[in-house]
Amino acid sequence: MALVPTRIQLNRPLPPLTYLAPEGLPEGVRVRVRLRTTAAMGLAMGPDPAPPAARLRPIEGILDPFPLLPPKLRELHRFAARYYGCLEAHLLPLSLPQALLPHWEAEEDGQPLSFHRDREAWDVLAERGEVWHRDPAILPTLLHRAALRGVGLTEVRLTGAPHPPRVTPAQAKVLLALEDAGGALMEPELLEAAGVGMSVLGTLEKRGLVVRMKRVDLLAQRREAGADRTVTLNEEQRAALEAVALGTFGVHLLQGVTGSGKTEVYLALAERALAANRRVLWLVPEIGLTGRLLSRLEARFPGRVAVGHAGLNAGEKHGDVTRLLFNGASLFVGVRNAVLAPLRDIGLIVVDEEHEGSYKSEEHPRIHARDLAIKRAQIEDCPIVLGSATPSLESWQAAQEGRYRLLRLRQRPAGITLPKVEIVDLRDVYREARRKVILAPPLMQALGETLTRGEQALLLLNRRGYENFWMCRACGKALGCPHCAISLTYHRGDFRLRCHLCGHETAPPEACPDCGAEHLRGVGEGTEQVEEHLRQLFPSARILRLDRDTTRRRGSLEAGLLAAEAGQVDILVGTQMLAKGHTFPRLTLVGVLNADQGLKVADFRASERTFQLLTQVAGRAGRAELAGRVILQTYSPDHPAITFALAQDFEGFAASELPFREGLGYPPFTALSLYRAEADTPRQAHEALEAFRQRLSVPGLRVLGPLEAGVPRVRDRWRMHLLLKGGRGALSEVLRRHPLDPGGSVSLDRDPLQFG
Ligand code: ADP
Ligand code: ZN
Repeated sequence: MALVPTRIQLNRPLPPLTYLAPEGLPEGVRVRVRLRTTAAMGLAMGPDPAPPAARLRPIEGILDPFPLLPPKLRELHRFAARYYGCLEAHLLPLSLPQALLPHWEAEEDGQPLSFHRDREAWDVLAERGEVWHRDPAILPTLLHRAALRGVGLTEVRLTGAPHPPRVTPAQAKVLLALEDAGGALMEPELLEAAGVGMSVLGTLEKRGLVVRMKRVDLLAQRREAGADRTVTLNEEQRAALEAVALGTFGVHLLQGVTGSGKTEVYLALAERALAANRRVLWLVPEIGLTGRLLSRLEARFPGRVAVGHAGLNAGEKHGDVTRLLFNGASLFVGVRNAVLAPLRDIGLIVVDEEHEGSYKSEEHPRIHARDLAIKRAQIEDCPIVLGSATPSLESWQAAQEGRYRLLRLRQRPAGITLPKVEIVDLRDVYREARRKVILAPPLMQALGETLTRGEQALLLLNRRGYENFWMCRACGKALGCPHCAISLTYHRGDFRLRCHLCGHETAPPEACPDCGAEHLRGVGEGTEQVEEHLRQLFPSARILRLDRDTTRRRGSLEAGLLAAEAGQVDILVGTQMLAKGHTFPRLTLVGVLNADQGLKVADFRASERTFQLLTQVAGRAGRAELAGRVILQTYSPDHPAITFALAQDFEGFAASELPFREGLGYPPFTALSLYRAEADTPRQAHEALEAFRQRLSVPGLRVLGPLEAGVPRVRDRWRMHLLLKGGRGALSEVLRRHPLDPGGSVSLDRDPLQFG
């Protein structure tokens, strides 16, 4: 077989390099190469039409019998790399489980972990391929048979990692037994079939060839919990269902308040896509909110659901992505990165709560999962449904312009009414009490009544800690973080002042470090203080605080939410993590302690975010048979974000907000590229951006800056911004003409959501 120059994308932040590889090596197959003296893994990217003149090295091995990344996913990678200004190598780890991206430097038993080294590699591989190419479609059934039998037991699965050249005879027996069983067996059966002892499994697990996991009857549990009833779609739901044409690309925006039945529409659509033998990609915004959804999915599509969900144990996550590689699941649910999951033949994409900021990565590569999902649907030529009660203004405007098809659910199912929303003007409360009040009398009274009736209340305050910051009354200085340009937050529980950006912490001083006066005083209450206050007011109530401080341990948020769902909590108090997802059947009162908190932020989306948060948290009240009541405490009762939330009027809000955006030239009327510089001194950061600005040669852009970032210093690094406004095409052209140095101090945030 002839060796030809082939581009290889290494699993490193480097552009593709050229090696010699067998002619016809499929794109996307993993190969092992030598980079200077170390072994590295890469993806074959096709022949290099213009190879460098230097002498090329041959690849050292081919690691897969078929490409792990489907060709359409590679196309998405190429698009994302161009659009976000990153390398395809940066996207690889988002698409494949870590176990398939090994550090090849770690050689085993002194033997390099390569598949085949000789010139005949390709032929030998083809032969091997006969084994591996065995119809991948049979794997799922076998896997699931095994999984179902495995209630409460440990299951052993092949990881899908290629065999190393050398295994002991005992290890080979295990691998063959697993292959014969379709990739997975329960541990006792496997030990019996292979006739080996436990220690062999341990070794294979250490070598990354098998995984062992407990299948605590998770699936069965989910199935049972989700099988509560069958639903007959109402007229609006049916209309939405029929409006989505399978088998062709189209973007649909499904707008309807929480509880209006959007999920039932997604489920009906998924059923049709699966019946047509296509797969479904289902994106959700957050960990910890999917428990109920997984039950509904597993009940509806038993054994066909895979989860890419960082909140579950690593075994399930890893195993499930592996199932995708072998076509072993037909519906994949996951958070942000799931948009890049190696799913083939996609027939439907769902993006639930499409407006959620968590779909945007705030780390390089700064992808937006919703936007990439739309591109993916286009590549797959399938419909995509974006759902929300409060769509992003970007999606809403696209629907207004007819680029997306708008589908609406205006009613809640029978028997469920919208909560009654009231406003308490904190200015009046202050005038009367002559001091700041955490809970104004109407909210206090409503709380008391709710507790008396044995119902639940939820109080939202979007600030954790005890006091927001400490200030010296003598000199007026706030105690700041020595490494960041923000003040420290007081946490009474452990008597610490803490930086919420870098984690720096210190014991609260007795006196002001600046002027020495002993007049330090806390300003601005946080959730910790509210909790304390509530405990004094309602000593017999069961109070649960949920914020990032109390939910640091994995699973504790889920546990808290479940306790609340089971009625073991009377008052829930916490930050915005309470606003989403979960249904609390006995929750009848929602109080927002400071509704305008988010409005003070210098961000053109402040109003939109506040409206979304208030509408969402209001939707928590009275979802079941009990009528709900919502009380918003605010200093600005006339602000549109608050008045429209009061009326639960998304359309009115959008109509009032969009003209501002248009007038100021902000999205959705222009696109933004935020160039961020980080350096040891403000001057270096400024100079890097200024140099970039001077070089800019693309016409039709508005350039703002360099300006200080919202938080000009974090972890001792100075941060500056340069904001480019213009059309998407022009912004892409900037990237093409002025590519960024991956190791440089300037990075790109395309379609930015955060300006901190
Ligand atoms: P959303 O996704 O918009 O929040 P869901 O689809 O979760 O709404 O619906 C909320 C609740 O109402 C769920 O328990 C769901 O089963 C139920 N439901 C939705 N549509 C119907 C219907 N047509 N008939 C009866 N119950 C329904
Ligand atoms: Zn800090």
